[in-house]
Amino acid sequence: MVVVLAVDALEYDKIEEFNCVNMKQTVYGKTDISEFKEPRTIVLWSSFMTGENKEKEVLAKGNRGMWNIRIPLSETFFSKFADPKVIDLPAYSYNLAQHEKERDLLKQFFKEDDQEKKKKIRSEYNQIAIQHHNKIKKEFLKSLKQDFDFILGYISVIDVIGHLNFGNKFLMQMLYDDLEKIVEQIKNIRDEPLLILSDHGMKAIGIFGEHSNYGYWSYNKGCDLENPKITEFYSFLTTI
Ligand SMILES: [Zn+2]
Repeated sequence: MVVVLAVDALEYDKIEEFNCVNMKQTVYGKTDISEFKEPRTIVLWSSFMTGENKEKEVLAKGNRGMWNIRIPLSETFFSKFADPKVIDLPAYSYNLAQHEKERDLLKQFFKEDDQEKKKKIRSEYNQIAIQHHNKIKKEFLKSLKQDFDFILGYISVIDVIGHLNFGNKFLMQMLYDDLEKIVEQIKNIRDEPLLILSDHGMKAIGIFGEHSNYGYWSYNKGCDLENPKITEFYSFLTTI
């Protein structure tokens, strides 16, 4: 079995700052996404699963349309496995209703001028992101006890909450600590090849967060990859 923990906006500098020892596996570092004009979530995960730069194709769908993209299994490297399970991945199996809810609250937050109301919207936004995270976490950990030969769990909470709270160190550390626990639980359930991968990282703009222009990767065995491109994992994961 091959396991991928796909974490949106997992930031190299935060991993170091919080010294996340579980996520710093045998090899770890930044990924090279410099071939892309902008670090966009849908573009990067689409390129990851197909092994090809999908920026042009994705951008052609427009800002709203890109979230509806569903890449067929046959175009992804998941099809190289006999029984793959891919949980909540953008452009593949992502929960669109959840994304709509988050985007709607984000819009409301930036439109609102009243500080008290803003606070309320932020708290609702954080709450629905954490609820969704807990649901996905449960499904992912349960799947690890089943007979799939490939499991990918996609975690959105660090990106979603980061956009409104990246300058809140206490909250961000809590989320990174939770990820540390997830990695520990994965290792307790199975000792399998484990790739931790982010599409891009995040940098602080005051209290808010913006995508940074590199991603993060970490693998629990020695390997030849160095500052890899996100498209390189297609062949890496299918030749382990
Ligand atoms: Zn992202």
